[in-house]
Amino acid sequence: MNPSESETEYIARMEFEKKQKVEREKHKALAEEEKQKLKEFHFMRCPKCGMELIEIDYKGIKVDECSECEGLWLDAGEFESVSKLEKSGLDKLFSVFKK
Ligand SMILES: [Zn+2]
Repeated sequence: MNPSESETEYIARMEFEKKQKVEREKHKALAEEEKQKLKEFHFMRCPKCGMELIEIDYKGIKVDECSECEGLWLDAGEFESVSKLEKSGLDKLFSVFKK
């Protein structure tokens, strides 16, 4: 192999790595975009039936009730807050959702 040939390969490899990097960056951006789209699509939607959630704030605990299947959903850490409520507080919280 003469020196000019190995230089040609080196340049080709550099070119390949450059393009590969560009593609990988695109994939990364695409994955982020997809994540963002999924978030927008599912935000404030019931995880079971996909209908809109109605959020109420009770003493700083945000409870989401599904407008369709009436499932109740809590954000991270909120179950702990609910578990710390007195029985009367719990009754009051659930009375918000009673028909
Ligand atoms: Zn639902």
